[in-house]
Amino acid sequence: MGYNEHVGIDLHIHSIASDGTLSPDEILSLAPVQRLAAISITDHDTLEGSKAAQQIDCPSGVKLLSGVEISAAPPPFAPFSGSLHILGYGFDLDDSELNQMLLVLQEARRNRNPEILRRLSQLGFDITLDDIVREVGDGQIGRPHIARVMVARGFVHSINEAFDRYIGQGKPAYVDKFRIPCRQALDIVLGAGGIPVLAHPFLLNISNRNDLEHFIISLKEMGLEGIEVYYPEHPPEETRYYEHLAEKLELLMTGGTDFHGSLKPEIQLGTGSGNFHVPYRLYEQLMARLA
Ligand code: AMP
Ligand code: ZN
Ligand code: FE
Ligand code: FE
Repeated sequence: MGYNEHVGIDLHIHSIASDGTLSPDEILSLAPVQRLAAISITDHDTLEGSKAAQQIDCPSGVKLLSGVEISAAPPPFAPFSGSLHILGYGFDLDDSELNQMLLVLQEARRNRNPEILRRLSQLGFDITLDDIVREVGDGQIGRPHIARVMVARGFVHSINEAFDRYIGQGKPAYVDKFRIPCRQALDIVLGAGGIPVLAHPFLLNISNRNDLEHFIISLKEMGLEGIEVYYPEHPPEETRYYEHLAEKLELLMTGGTDFHGSLKPEIQLGTGSGNFHVPYRLYEQLMARLA
């Protein structure tokens, strides 16, 4: 397909393999409805969404790029704490090192969930793992699923309230989880033939632009190849700044909605809260790098 400003892409999508609510099949069918010419399913710490999508015939005019969103630990010099999300694109889905690293992260998640439920029960909220499994199906359990069961039980009014009062970072039922060192995440995506990208830089909460620039330069020295410039929660002036940074540091630009289906109902596939748009040429630039 040629260059067309009206045709968009969405390179940040969660499926039922992690904490989204649509299957890869449903996501692929929705893509042309949303006028998307390329998508990537980027589930948290699992390739199951991307692998399932690859087995399905794409609707005509829609291209599929392999994807993942890895929970990484920030390097020691990072000007923030918590989680660093690294997106990977265009890698070999069967790469054994990548698959093995993700198994470690998946096990860390499985070990963490009973501990979150134990803390919730101490707070008077009795939820069993079976309750969550009924909610999630075969996918990997994350905190949004726990939040959804808390809403269904009437323990809280919204998913946000569950995070803000109980399971968000620093709250009484918060349990930290193992994250892969950032350098290793970058190495493994590169080793699998993919492009490692810094997800939603605004969510890192680095308020000083100089600090952010130096942090991204350090990540580039470790192998980072792109920045997720376009993201629904990025304020317009920050988006312009990330575009400038990507050009200055010679990094690729990517963008996506972080679509989670009904777990994040205000965000639509491809269009975010309505006027979000990621141009198709960014996909072509990624493909040029992969070639
Ligand atoms: P987990 O992977 O289990 O640590 O959960 C992280 C996911 O929870 C993120 O990717 C978001 O989708 C979601 N999340 C994190 N914080 C909040 C919040 N305050 N409100 C709603 N969802 C959140
Ligand atoms: Zn998520
Ligand atoms: Fe993320
Ligand atoms: Fe995400």
